[in-house]
Amino acid sequence: MRIALLGGTGNLGKGLALRLAKLGYEIIIGSRKLEKAKSKASEYLNEIGDAKIYGLENVYAAEKCDIAIFTIPWQHAFSTAETLRDVLEDKIVVSPLVPMERVNGVFIYVRPKEGSAAEKLASILTKSRVVAAYHSIPANRFAKVDERFEWDVPICGDDEEAKKTVIEITNKIKGLRALDAGPLSNSYLVESLTPLILNLMIKNRLGELGVKFV
Ligand code: NAP
Repeated sequence: MRIALLGGTGNLGKGLALRLAKLGYEIIIGSRKLEKAKSKASEYLNEIGDAKIYGLENVYAAEKCDIAIFTIPWQHAFSTAETLRDVLEDKIVVSPLVPMERVNGVFIYVRPKEGSAAEKLASILTKSRVVAAYHSIPANRFAKVDERFEWDVPICGDDEEAKKTVIEITNKIKGLRALDAGPLSNSYLVESLTPLILNLMIKNRLGELGVKFV
């Protein structure tokens, strides 16, 4: 299965690329710039050795993949999605998007009028199967391949088969437990956990926190 990380050259993309490639998935690093995509792909390959990781511009990454993960800041993800609407038709699209702002040192959730970032993405990619996941994964820790963790990943979606596929892939990553969090209309609940976690980290001087439901 080919998984494209659109904007996979950044924080969250790195951890997903390394960990999914180690599981044997073919990983396409997408970028606005081909050279950057290729250079990050070879940097990731150097870290883990034998794996299938290569770089392409976002549009070709989206075209070639079976599943596309939007590892792009939310402010830019929707305009990117507009350009990929046709190539992502029928594909599973994963939204880890967290719409938030920092106001007077405090993170706040910026709820889109569609209900959540995932629903806004789905309103653009009307022919794709949008699933919301990975919002509360601390990217820096996740990108360290030797890091040990036990984190839960609440996953929302309306297409049950697409959601099941993302749950299965997620459960293969050691230390992650995927949990069905209901339909896409529940995504705002999951997205809004991230500003809460960031405020807890800052106010209490804690390191990067993951989420575990016990
Ligand atoms: P990031 O590192 O800041 O950016 C990721 C990539 O987005 C960049 O490398 C860049 O790729 C691309 N990008 C930047 N500006 C763009 C634009 N104007 N148009 C198109 N692409 C652009 O982001 P991140 O921290 O990985 O977060 C990615 C997404 O995951 C966000 O939506 C965030 O809410 C979510 N998330 C983040 C974390 C975290 O801990 N960081 C955790 C969970 C979820 P190119 O320059 O190569 O095109």
